[in-house]
Amino acid sequence: MWKNMGLTGKILVAMALGIVLGLFLNYSGLNVEGGFINTYFVNGLFGIIGKLFVNSLKMLVVPLVLISLICGVCGIGDIRLLGRIGSKTFFMYMLTTALAIATAIGLGSLFGIGKGMNIASEASFEAQEAPPLIDVFSNIIPANPISAMANGDMLSIIFFAILIGISILMVGKPAKGLVQSLELINEVILKMVTIIMNLAPYGVFALLVKAMSELGIDLIFSLLGYVAVLIGSLAFHFFITMMIILKVFSGLSVKTFLAKMREVQIFAFSTSSSNATIPVTLRTVTKRMGVNNSVASFTVPFGATINMDGTAIMQGTATIFIANIYGIELGITGYLTVILMSVLASIGTAGVPGVGLIMLSMVFAQVGLPIEGIGLILGVDRLLDMLRTAVNVGGDAAVTAIVAKSEDKMDLAIYNDPDAGTKEVFDGHIDPDNEREFSNVMNDGIMGSEYDDLNKR
Ligand code: ASP
Repeated sequence: MWKNMGLTGKILVAMALGIVLGLFLNYSGLNVEGGFINTYFVNGLFGIIGKLFVNSLKMLVVPLVLISLICGVCGIGDIRLLGRIGSKTFFMYMLTTALAIATAIGLGSLFGIGKGMNIASEASFEAQEAPPLIDVFSNIIPANPISAMANGDMLSIIFFAILIGISILMVGKPAKGLVQSLELINEVILKMVTIIMNLAPYGVFALLVKAMSELGIDLIFSLLGYVAVLIGSLAFHFFITMMIILKVFSGLSVKTFLAKMREVQIFAFSTSSSNATIPVTLRTVTKRMGVNNSVASFTVPFGATINMDGTAIMQGTATIFIANIYGIELGITGYLTVILMSVLASIGTAGVPGVGLIMLSMVFAQVGLPIEGIGLILGVDRLLDMLRTAVNVGGDAAVTAIVAKSEDKMDLAIYNDPDAGTKEVFDGHIDPDNEREFSNVMNDGIMGSEYDDLNKR
């Protein structure tokens, strides 16, 4: 049965099994720190498989973003159009983030979460430094592109790639061969994504067993109001607000969008990282939804860095919760500052696990809420990080689809085909005909006449 199941089915089963086994290990108390199961299975076997899987995704992020974006800019071929797509995307990302946080503040206030609660902080929270906004802007142009790539500085990589693309356009016709080669490299990297996606059921299973077995289940119950309002706001924003926006602005089928996003969101959920999910998001929006690479290669990595609706929702909910616990009245200016700060903080921080808490400390510092308050929600943040990351990537893909549709850069036949992009699977074997054909080409080309020519000289 497993053999005949489609990839999405396998990933879903793996996710469910991972959650069940992880929760069992947690509840039964088998996963005691330093115990046999904890050492050899949770941190050992599952820890290693999960890490290998996340690494294999991260490995592709920088080369994929760089190459696909250069190809994307060359594909657009018009600098004015590039500017228009850029500003539209930026505006949509900021707008949806602001809507997200407003939803969270609204629902949080409605339910009065944290009012009259008196809980002692479980863990102390050491605020980490978030990059100052001035640095974020001044580093957009990298002094050293190689070090920007080594550090995965997404905005710098995006800038560098766009500049290369524009310069290639200026060179014009003689650069045709170069662009064709880059397009081939892009296809090769996307094949690597396909290979890794086929390993996803095992990776997702391992990541979820580890994450769930380490969850503070009791803490979730003691913070039920916070957790419930946060999850409710995430669901409201993604399933209602974003889907209305998608429908109104693009007219695309919401059902198809949600079905095609399932895989991407499971990847985001299990890795807690929008950045690590970039290869999967990019593959899905181009191969499964028919978005042209010229739009997606820009909007997806840009979104993974600056667009974090789920994270903004966490910040809104946490602000209300902690302000209520400490009995601090923020007032309308306080809330507006929270919205502004969250939107700005999301521009400067990359989509990696746990970064939302760092952004939260920036917001708290700005509105004068006690930073130690963050210690209260630290214990449940692991699970919530997984959920909000799924919403973050959902927003990136929705805006990508809207912008692509508005610019007529979307193949609707692909979008409406439920099987698009699912046929290509890698089961460890390469099509023998392909292999034979390729070896013939290589022999003719290199070992055959060209090689003889070389020898004759
Ligand atoms: N983990 C989130 C992401 O990668 C960011 C956060 O909220 O911590 O999108």
